[in-house]
Amino acid sequence: MPNVRPSRRTESFTESVIREMTRLAMEHDAINLAQGFPDFPAPEEVKQAAKDAIDADLNQYPITWGEPELRGAIAAHYERRYGMHVDPLAQLCVTCGSTEAMIASLLGVIDPGDEVVIFEPYYENYGPDTILSGAVPRYVSLRAPDWTFDEMELANAFGPRTRGIVLNTPNNPTGKVFTREELEQIAALCQKWDVIAFTDEIYEHIVYDGAQHVPIATVPGMEDRTVTISALSKTYAVTGWRVGWAIAPPALVPGIRKVHDFLAVGAPTPLQHAGATALNLPDTYYARMAEEYADRRELMMKTLWDHGFEAQPPRGAYYVMAGISHLGLGDDTQTAEHLTREIGVAVVPGSSFFSDPSLGHALVRFSFCKKLETLEEAARRLEKLRT
Ligand code: GLN
Repeated sequence: MPNVRPSRRTESFTESVIREMTRLAMEHDAINLAQGFPDFPAPEEVKQAAKDAIDADLNQYPITWGEPELRGAIAAHYERRYGMHVDPLAQLCVTCGSTEAMIASLLGVIDPGDEVVIFEPYYENYGPDTILSGAVPRYVSLRAPDWTFDEMELANAFGPRTRGIVLNTPNNPTGKVFTREELEQIAALCQKWDVIAFTDEIYEHIVYDGAQHVPIATVPGMEDRTVTISALSKTYAVTGWRVGWAIAPPALVPGIRKVHDFLAVGAPTPLQHAGATALNLPDTYYARMAEEYADRRELMMKTLWDHGFEAQPPRGAYYVMAGISHLGLGDDTQTAEHLTREIGVAVVPGSSFFSDPSLGHALVRFSFCKKLETLEEAARRLEKLRT
């Protein structure tokens, strides 16, 4: 018998449930409120810039850690938006989305056996990311309904073996936006234990009710111990372009760049050039986008509340964790499958976001990064729950 089996390192994690729900949604022609990608178009000028870049024959390998034009635009964006100084030569690595940025950063910085603190529920990729980088996860609970954490529990998760903390603000799947005070508590622990923060800020521009996104890299003492990750995907509705970045202290960058180079060589060249155009859009773009998301959130919450789901409006990002016990359709996986197959609305089972799946058995995640008419159609389909 030939020795045909996947590597042991891949045995301890399963395929992505989020991506699996998209497949199931397509099979059943369900509205996909599972995987978080927009169904509305990217800005016209950004699409045009991509076409122009292809026409200008910018179709070969990029500089592995990012085209200078895009790195310059990213640095200028952070300076303008957050007063954060980023050296585009020494501190940036452009990646294939924030997904690659996170795993390349962990692989480039963490040694096997190092402990990494993770708030849970968490975006499911962080599980395999830690396994592949050999990190030992230490989970800290975010508690519903407002997803706060216990200061003591957080402090107890840190120790001499802690090398990193994975942060995601605005948060997927809870919609939590970490406050400055919370970030200062985290920063104090990072300094006490000499820990690096890996912060996924891909929803940075999607906040509600006057919530402010604070990059932890701007909290005093964190500028030289933070890897800040974001991407074009969510801000400009181009999740399929796979252009993201990691901003890191110069001492950490070589590790991240090497992993990125040997995994991907580079992110798509013409789309990096279009990314520079995107990052230079005027402030009015971000204001309008946030308003449109607020309308989507309102409709999503109304629909959920109309059907008795226990759920709080998120303060950021575009997901809602909703309680499903009242439906009597079984656990989260059974409910998600029923909603997809019978109702025609796909969602993600809550257990996908917990280290202990039982913690998510009474929850599903709805994502609402969709046109209002798509959300209206989802609302119509959910009416079937009444019968
Ligand atoms: N972040 C999105 C989600 O949580 C999807 C990301 C992905 O599937 N790569 O649904």
